[in-house]
Amino acid sequence: MCNLNSIEKKLEEYFGYTEFRTGQREIISEVLKGKDVLGILPTGTGKSICYQLPARLLNGVTIVVSPLISLMMDQVKQLKSTNFKEVIALNSFLDYEKRKLTYKRLNQYKLIYVSPEILQQKELQFYLKRLSISLFVVDEAHCISQWGHEFRPDYQKLNKVIKQLGNPTVLALSATATKEVQDDIIQSLERPLMEKHIYPMDRSNIALYIEEVMSNEEKLEFIINVLSKTRVPSLIYFSSRASAESISYVLSQRLSNHRVAYYHGGMEQMDRIAIQQQFMNDQIDIICCTSAFGMGINKNNIRFVFHYHFPGQMESFLQEIGRAGRDGKQSISILLYGRQDVFLPQQMIQSELPSDEDLVRVSRILKRLSKENKQLPEDINGVQGLFEISEVQWRFIATHLEKHGAILENGIKYEQSKLELIFQYIKNIRNERLFLKQSKLQEMIQWMESESCLREGIYIKFQKSYTQLNEQCCSNCGISLMDFKPEQTEMQHVPSWEKKLQRLLNRGDKHETE
Ligand code: ADP
Repeated sequence: MCNLNSIEKKLEEYFGYTEFRTGQREIISEVLKGKDVLGILPTGTGKSICYQLPARLLNGVTIVVSPLISLMMDQVKQLKSTNFKEVIALNSFLDYEKRKLTYKRLNQYKLIYVSPEILQQKELQFYLKRLSISLFVVDEAHCISQWGHEFRPDYQKLNKVIKQLGNPTVLALSATATKEVQDDIIQSLERPLMEKHIYPMDRSNIALYIEEVMSNEEKLEFIINVLSKTRVPSLIYFSSRASAESISYVLSQRLSNHRVAYYHGGMEQMDRIAIQQQFMNDQIDIICCTSAFGMGINKNNIRFVFHYHFPGQMESFLQEIGRAGRDGKQSISILLYGRQDVFLPQQMIQSELPSDEDLVRVSRILKRLSKENKQLPEDINGVQGLFEISEVQWRFIATHLEKHGAILENGIKYEQSKLELIFQYIKNIRNERLFLKQSKLQEMIQWMESESCLREGIYIKFQKSYTQLNEQCCSNCGISLMDFKPEQTEMQHVPSWEKKLQRLLNRGDKHETE
């Protein structure tokens, strides 16, 4: 391992960066000393280096749990281009044969990216246990917390995996985690001595603009008006897949110089990756998307982040607008607020959690299955059909059933009386979660309707102070969209299919010259 004094040299040697950005040196030094760290750094400041540099310096293997396959693949590609070849991403794309072979050869790698779901595989755990693991990284660590905005149940099982892997040093990283979520991360990972390294998340190059509108037509005209004056990489967030698709069609008709696409979780994975790649390569200008787009997107020249619908809580909003201006250049977040939109997040909160009737039904069916000595269906569609609930609702219930030992490896094991108690407990947790989500939504609405500085209003909820700006601050402090002149990006020219066809036809025409 290298001397701490020389880590700057190593940063330059391996990554070509001449200095550390805020927080990187502090976090890396602690990790190299073997201390557990929770690092909260704003999006785009360079969290990845906090484990990529240690991965190259530590003797053993570094494992990174990352929630998104596209993000892992992107990072592996980038690292390989810096001549770091001992890196691999383990995800569901590997077929059985390839997987077997890869697992057997895991000792060839220094940095292993893995999804939380794949990490639960007994087979993989068997091979990982044979390695000497120096560092275990939990990327997007807010996914651990069921109070966070992107809860992933498999993240809650990481504590067990860490123990099985011989308790390596743990580094948890996130861009947005309230105090409550930070404590939840530390508790769930069972690392009470974890040091917190929290850095301010306010980004002075992102101006905040809120426009109150009366209708969806007004929103559309507003977006068209702003985007028709410029052509720069832009995101438009929607809370429904259908609106993302339909507005994307309208925009591609009305903004004929722009290339517009949509992206949401209901699309095939390959299509999603293709859209993301085209956007990264500046071949698409505008993406109409749901919250499924963006986590870990390393595109640094996004200038506009619109919200056609507002998210149900400030953490999600900050995460989404944080994708703008990662290169530090002036960018803007434009939220189109219609009072009629309030019912959407309210509906989403309700539908995410099981109702009283759902809980009674699931409990009744589980009792019956247990009596008949039957197991739960293996695939999620079977489970959904059996209980008549959504996947998200089932995951909520299943997490708590597993936590209390009522479900083991898809089977069911419990005493009748215990099950009653567990369901009472689940109901209480559900109520708490509903209350919390409702209050977060109210907080978001109050902020959108406030008349004081928007930057102060949002950042002060997460940190003690923030950078006050005299210019390009927010719509309440008087910025004008007319003054916002984003730096242009050299967009790649990809001809439309009509033009491609025209060219082919012209080629066949003897009188036409190219
Ligand atoms: P995050 O995960 O925090 O959103 P990334 O780790 O993807 O951010 O890094 C964002 C960008 O910053 C990347 O393009 C990365 O290469 C760059 N970067 C990271 N650290 C440094 C540094 N010390 N100096 C210059 N650029 C850096």
